[in-house]
Amino acid sequence: MARQHEHRSVIITGSTSGIGLGIASAFAREGANITLNGFGDAAAIEAMRAAMAEEFGVKVRYSAADMSKPTQIATMVSEAAAAFGGCDMLVNNAGIQYVAPVDEFPIEKWDAIIAINLSSVFHATRAALPHMKSAKWGRVINIASAHGLVASPFKSAYVAAKHGVVGFTKSCALEVAEQGITVNAICPGYVFTPLVEKQIDDQAKVHGIPRENVIRDILLAPQPNKRFAEVNEVAALTVYLASDAAQGITGTAMSIDGGWTAR
Ligand code: NAD
Repeated sequence: MARQHEHRSVIITGSTSGIGLGIASAFAREGANITLNGFGDAAAIEAMRAAMAEEFGVKVRYSAADMSKPTQIATMVSEAAAAFGGCDMLVNNAGIQYVAPVDEFPIEKWDAIIAINLSSVFHATRAALPHMKSAKWGRVINIASAHGLVASPFKSAYVAAKHGVVGFTKSCALEVAEQGITVNAICPGYVFTPLVEKQIDDQAKVHGIPRENVIRDILLAPQPNKRFAEVNEVAALTVYLASDAAQGITGTAMSIDGGWTAR
């Protein structure tokens, strides 16, 4: 049976780790040619790139573009489009977190979170849309967060950025709705990845409590199903939103949060 994304290409920002890496593998499994992006050890990234290409029989490229640098983002998209003859699908996933009270929030951390978690979504989408418009087909999927819909204390920059991503998603979806292009956001609750692992330590420091209490009483407190979502659950929804079957779904913010935002 033909794989559903055979002959398509996808850029996944922040795909050297966690959710992005899971999404890249899921698209490769479905036959898409992949542009990986993100930081990490060069040899480890090359090994990951080669293994993905080998396992799934697809082309896998890597871009080291820094998502806080608009010109590098534009270059990443134009090089991917040149390599794969277009830019069919874009998953804006790169993100960082920092936890601190507003009046102690380091200004450079605010600026970095807004640049990487929000502005990069604009810059990458801006560069990708002309390719999608000329193909009259495209998919933009933004990995926002439950924090794109509701807030938690000490995460002002992250919550502001993710609410911004949800707003951008809606506006952009309206603009391109007649051109075969859909734009959606996915809003996961807590997914167990290195980003969350780091937050456990940060929150333990801010609240002055042990790690196990952070997991039970803070991280999973708002999640009614009391479990972390898994990377493959987010990847499966991303691949679905990119499918032809999902052509009528646009401008949405879909939750995978165990009921968190149903309250
Ligand atoms: P992660 O730390 O495992 O991965 C983040 C990725 O982004 C890495 O590949 C990293 O190298 C890359 N990255 C960071 N800064 C970058 C930059 N300046 N330029 C290019 N790449 C950069 O994190 P994750 O948990 O997989 O998070 C992925 C996305 O999912 C983020 O946008 C995050 O906000 C969102 N999210 C995560 C959770 C969760 O619980 N893990 C929940 C909701 C939303």
